[in-house]
Amino acid sequence: MKLNKNLIKIYESDASRLKGNAKEVVHPRNVAEVRGAVANSARVVVRGAGTGLAGGAVPQNGMDVVLDMSKMDGIHGFDKERNTVEVEAGVILDELQGYLARFGLEFPVNPSSHAVATIGGMIATDAVGSRAIKYGKTSNWVKWVEIVDGYGEVHKKGITELSDYSGMEGITGVIVRACLKLAPRKDRSATLVKVESLEDVVSVVRELKRNSAVSMIEFFDKGISKELELGEGYHLIVEYESPRDDPAGPDGAGALTGKEYEDLIKLRDRVYPFVAGEGYTRIEDPKIMIDRFVKLMTWLEARKIPVFGHVGVGILHPCFNHDQEKLVPEMMALVKRLGGQVSGEHGIGVLKKGFVEINDQKILRNVKKRTDPLNKFNVGKVV
Ligand SMILES: Cc1cc2nc3c(=O)[nH]c(=O)nc-3n(C[C@H](O)[C@H](O)[C@H](O)COP(=O)(O)OP(=O)(O)OC[C@H]3O[C@@H](n4cnc5c(N)ncnc54)[C@H](O)[C@@H]3O)c2cc1C
Repeated sequence: MKLNKNLIKIYESDASRLKGNAKEVVHPRNVAEVRGAVANSARVVVRGAGTGLAGGAVPQNGMDVVLDMSKMDGIHGFDKERNTVEVEAGVILDELQGYLARFGLEFPVNPSSHAVATIGGMIATDAVGSRAIKYGKTSNWVKWVEIVDGYGEVHKKGITELSDYSGMEGITGVIVRACLKLAPRKDRSATLVKVESLEDVVSVVRELKRNSAVSMIEFFDKGISKELELGEGYHLIVEYESPRDDPAGPDGAGALTGKEYEDLIKLRDRVYPFVAGEGYTRIEDPKIMIDRFVKLMTWLEARKIPVFGHVGVGILHPCFNHDQEKLVPEMMALVKRLGGQVSGEHGIGVLKKGFVEINDQKILRNVKKRTDPLNKFNVGKVV
C-alpha cells in the first residue's frame, strides 16, 4: 500500500523531533512481506513506535523506505514451563504485559514509553528503564531473535550473536521475531523520599542499593520536583518489591501500595511529556558513576538545565531547551572526562553520532560491514 504525501509526513520524524524525508512507507504484515520489501529496496529504515529520542527511525534525504512494523503484533509460543514467549517485533510492551498478567508473569524491563514502545524497538535500542537496578537491559531478557538481512534472507540469532542486533539501532538488519524470557509478577510498593542536598542524594542512593528489595530509584531535581508539586528540595521515588507468594509482602515498611503506589509511578511516567511541553525539546541520557553525580549535577544546575533520571543505575536525563542545545557538546565532553558514557539508554541515532569514541566507531563499522554488506539499513546513522 502506498501512502499519500500527507500520511508519509507522520513517518518523517520520531520523538527526537528531527525531520527527514521518506521515499516510501510500507506496512508488512508478516515475515514474507518484510523479506519482499527489503529485497526490493536499496535503503531501509525500520520503525517501531517512533518513540526513539536519537532520530534512529527518521528517514534521510528522501532515499529511505520506511518499514513500519506495527502490523506485526502477534504473540505466539508462550511456554509456561520455560517462562518464555515468542513475539513479533511490532508487539507493544504494555500489550504483552496485559497478555502475560493472566499467567502471573511479566517482561521486567520497563522504559517509560511502555504504553507505545515496541519489542523490536526495545531490542534494537537495548532499552533500559526504571527497573534497571534489578533487571538490567532488554538484551538480558532475549533468548533469540529472528532477523531479515539485506538480501531478504531470514536468520535465527541466539545469545552469542545477539549483540550484532541488540543495541545496534536497526543498522544491521530487521528484527522480525524474538523469544523473550519472563519473570514472575511482583507485588510492589513505593515511597517518595525528600533529599536536601546532592551529596545526600549520593549517600541515600548508595544505602538503598544495598537493599535487594529495591527495584527502582528515580531522581527529580529541585525544579522538576516543584513543577510536579512534590515540594521543595530533591526527590527520589523508591520502589520495593517481593514475589506475590511472599507472605511478608513488599519490603518497604510504610511504603505506598495499591492506587497510591500506582499514582506515584504514573507521576514518573508523566515527566517526559511534562518537560517536552515546557519547551525542553532535547532530552539526553548520559550515564555516570554515582561518585561523579555531584560534579555533573553542579555543572547542569549552574546552567539551569532541568534533570531527572534513573539515578540507581547512573542514567540522568538533562533537558535542554532550544537556546541551551548549544551546551550539549560541552556536557558530553564533561561526561567523558568523568569516565561516563554519552548514551545510557536512548542510543546514538543521528543526534549523538559526533560523540562516539574512535575505538567504538571502529567496532561498530566492523559489525555493520559484516552484517549489512549491501549497506541497506539505517544508512548514515550511529556510524
Ligand atoms: C516518553 C518517552 C520515555 C522514554 N523512556 C525510556 C526509558 O525509560 N528507557 C529507554 O531505554 N528508552 C526510553 N525512551 C526511548 C524509546 O522509547 C526507546 O528507545 C524504545 O525502545 C524505542 O522503541 P520504538 O518501538 O518506539 O522504536 P523506534 O523509535 O521506532 O526505533 C528506535 C530505533 O530502533 C530501530 N528499530 C525499531 N524497530 C526495529 C526492528 N524491528 N528491527 C530493527 N531495528 C528496529 C529504529 O530503526 C531506530 O533506530 C523513551 C522515549 C519517550 C518518548
